[in-house]
Amino acid sequence: MPELPEVETTRRGIEPAVTARTVERIVIREPRLRWRIPDELMEAEGQRVQQLRRRAKYLLFDLERGTMILHLGMSGSLRVMPAGTAPLPHDHVDIVLDSGNCLRFNDPRRFGSLLWTTEDPLTHPLLKSLAPEPLSPEFNADYLARVARGRSVAIKQLLMNSQLVVGVGNIYASEALFHAGIRPQRRAAAVRRYEFPRLVRAVRKVLNAAIRSGGTTLRDYVNAAGMPGYFRQKLYVYERAGEPCRVCATPIKHIVQGNRSSYYCPKCQK
Ligand SMILES: [Zn+2]
Repeated sequence: MPELPEVETTRRGIEPAVTARTVERIVIREPRLRWRIPDELMEAEGQRVQQLRRRAKYLLFDLERGTMILHLGMSGSLRVMPAGTAPLPHDHVDIVLDSGNCLRFNDPRRFGSLLWTTEDPLTHPLLKSLAPEPLSPEFNADYLARVARGRSVAIKQLLMNSQLVVGVGNIYASEALFHAGIRPQRRAAAVRRYEFPRLVRAVRKVLNAAIRSGGTTLRDYVNAAGMPGYFRQKLYVYERAGEPCRVCATPIKHIVQGNRSSYYCPKCQK
């Protein structure tokens, strides 16, 4: 499932191909995604793309008089290719641009979505209640300390709670806790005041590293089916149970928390 870094990698990959281009035509081969593609999406035809933004895992194509809201779902991906390239199975939508290219949306499981709004997209029902972005200034040590106060939930589950911060998935929460020296099962309320700045820095560091790896290995083609392979080689604990810690050589431990696997170094993390 594409996580925040993969969606940001997608955004950076396709941004140069779509910005300042006019949507000539939209070809819908299969409208039945997670929600049916609305007929109003056709209003985008003839409009120029002003910018491509991301909010959580939504891509926002701001046009002159409306915004296309796209979510990759579980298995979606976007590719830029010459318009008229023969479609493959699951190539559900083409957004044909005046450059002669098209942006093609492929989604085998069809949990993705493509919606249209003429209002401020940040006030759309799907977006209006989203928690802060982990790479924004709103996500800082004070914020994290405040939401952790008095909570008996484990710190890893707190980081993965999308009501508190969006887009920190299992891999990135595990890795960030390693870099911060905090065990994933520690109660959020038991994280010390001085550890929060460290944890915030660690979350940003792992997300930025993943985005950079994706950005260097992927250009116009973005396979959103998994994390960039290059980043996988840099993991410190995730899916490394029994292997030696890259810092102290102690075998990495595996536990299950809330049905999700967690990994940590019993020596480096307290
Ligand atoms: Zn270690």
